[in-house]
Amino acid sequence: MPHRLIRGIAVSPGVAVGPALVVRWEVPAVPEHAIRADEVEGEVGRLREALAFARERIAGVQARAAERAGPEEARIFDAQLMILDDGDLVAAVERLIRDNHFSAERAFELKMLEWRGLWMTHGSTLLRDRLIDLADVQIRVLTRLLGVDEPEVLETRPDGPVVLVARDLTPSLTVQLDRDAVLAIACQEGTRTSHAAILAHSIGIPAVVALPDVLGRVATGELVVLDGWAGTLQVQPLEADLAAARTRDARRRKLDRDLEAAVALPATTTDGEHVVLRANLDLPEELATAVRHGADGVGLMRTEFLVVGRGKMPDEEEQVAAYRRVGSAFAGRDVVVRTFDIGGDKFPAGFRMTAEDNPFLGWRAIRVCLDRPDVFRPQIRAILRAAAHARLRLMIPLVTRTEEVVATRELVEAEAAALQRSGVEAAERVPVGTMVETPAAVLIADRLAEVSDFLSVGTNDLVQYTLAVDRGNARLAARFTPHHPAILRLLAEVQRAGRAAGIEVSVCGEMASDPLSIFLLIGLGYRVLSVAAPSLPLVRWMVRQIGAKDARECAEALLGARAADDVTAQARRALGSAVDLRLLEPTE
Ligand code: PEP
Ligand code: MG
Repeated sequence: MPHRLIRGIAVSPGVAVGPALVVRWEVPAVPEHAIRADEVEGEVGRLREALAFARERIAGVQARAAERAGPEEARIFDAQLMILDDGDLVAAVERLIRDNHFSAERAFELKMLEWRGLWMTHGSTLLRDRLIDLADVQIRVLTRLLGVDEPEVLETRPDGPVVLVARDLTPSLTVQLDRDAVLAIACQEGTRTSHAAILAHSIGIPAVVALPDVLGRVATGELVVLDGWAGTLQVQPLEADLAAARTRDARRRKLDRDLEAAVALPATTTDGEHVVLRANLDLPEELATAVRHGADGVGLMRTEFLVVGRGKMPDEEEQVAAYRRVGSAFAGRDVVVRTFDIGGDKFPAGFRMTAEDNPFLGWRAIRVCLDRPDVFRPQIRAILRAAAHARLRLMIPLVTRTEEVVATRELVEAEAAALQRSGVEAAERVPVGTMVETPAAVLIADRLAEVSDFLSVGTNDLVQYTLAVDRGNARLAARFTPHHPAILRLLAEVQRAGRAAGIEVSVCGEMASDPLSIFLLIGLGYRVLSVAAPSLPLVRWMVRQIGAKDARECAEALLGARAADDVTAQARRALGSAVDLRLLEPTE
């Protein structure tokens, strides 16, 4: 087959050139096999032995991950251990063996399939990311029960290092990869936030995921160029492609060194305006990156990881520990804990909801929390308790009405008073802020500001709800743009309301990590940005290239623009030669 270019999502930077090795680390097939009644106890025994064996193996891999990728990254394997330790799961598998006379492997496989179906149909990114953890556990337990060999760890191959091509990498395979043996990783599936992506990044292996049909389009031995900056895989590259990839790599590496060097420098515009840069945290394992990249606190700690993919809601103690951990990593800095944004694309397994035709407009986030004090109160208490020794704030998602903020404040006050009365160590108060991520919230931003200690714009949802464009629909990706003049006007409005009320207004959506959008946000007056931890060096560096006065003139003029494309083109022109945007954006 001739030269091919396959586009995916870049998850770990760097360019690699080498022969492809197509691998299959897949769940083994389980034969149909019923057991006799007198074999039931033996099967249950086999199941328990296999679970214990898998546990031991995963703990071993976790230790290896701690050595190779660091202690934070090793915690990724906690998710797998939790699956194995789920008492309900084990009991359900045992019931299948006893009641239906399934073999241990068949019963285990059926339960895993059921979980997989449940996790997939709810379309949550967090759950999709966790599917591969499920596969990892499944492979370990089933290979043991079936008595087949566990998939090979990839050691150095006699014919030299390779670019690994796989359907999806399980975290345990990723952590065992040898940098001398594997030049890069190309996956057919996976997401930016999948565990394998995080691990590949920490180990320093370039990786691209979500490459459509890569398993069918690349054969073992074919020469490939993987570009972990641009998110592409070139198969059978031409000489010119090889040269271009190497040049781009060298330029990006230089830029990366500049970005790293900027970590210790203040995020200040060329004309002296300071911008506070905080980190968004989806998972606790991102904490180390946020600290390393010099985050000035946490602007958005998503708490859904405590719920999604779990059998039940987390108790108060577990939450206190999670919030304390982040609070103490950022002692003396603000940490904004967002209350559960469950529902919509984040569906907790242990919190059954009836199917909704339109979950993004459904019973979610603050609506759920206010309707279910049994869920909300423990979270509020946990935040207050963790705030005893840290600068925690509480932030409410998906607000559309002032009553939601007022009701939350009343609950916070009531719980704070109750904690004080009972002598439990807790803060007397925590600042309560509002996420502005619906058009309604923008239009009443002045009123919300009266009852909020701070506002934070969630541009991911704000763009989705304002432009009526599903944020997860790849087909509409080009239409999902924060450069639409409607969005610029909304952003200006929120800034104005916050300023009039004298409270902090930040942006914590993805927009804040897009180079051109940073220019626009600074121009619109935003001085507090919160972005995913890996984006911090780029955002800091970018802020340092921008003149706030130029940005303001440009943004103010663009409030009158007709179309998103005009906004993009004019912002690019205004930014001028200060920044080579081509270096920062995927190659065409
Ligand atoms: C947003 O909507 O912009 C946001 C930051 O929240 P999430 O992405 O978690 O919905
Ligand atoms: Mg949101």
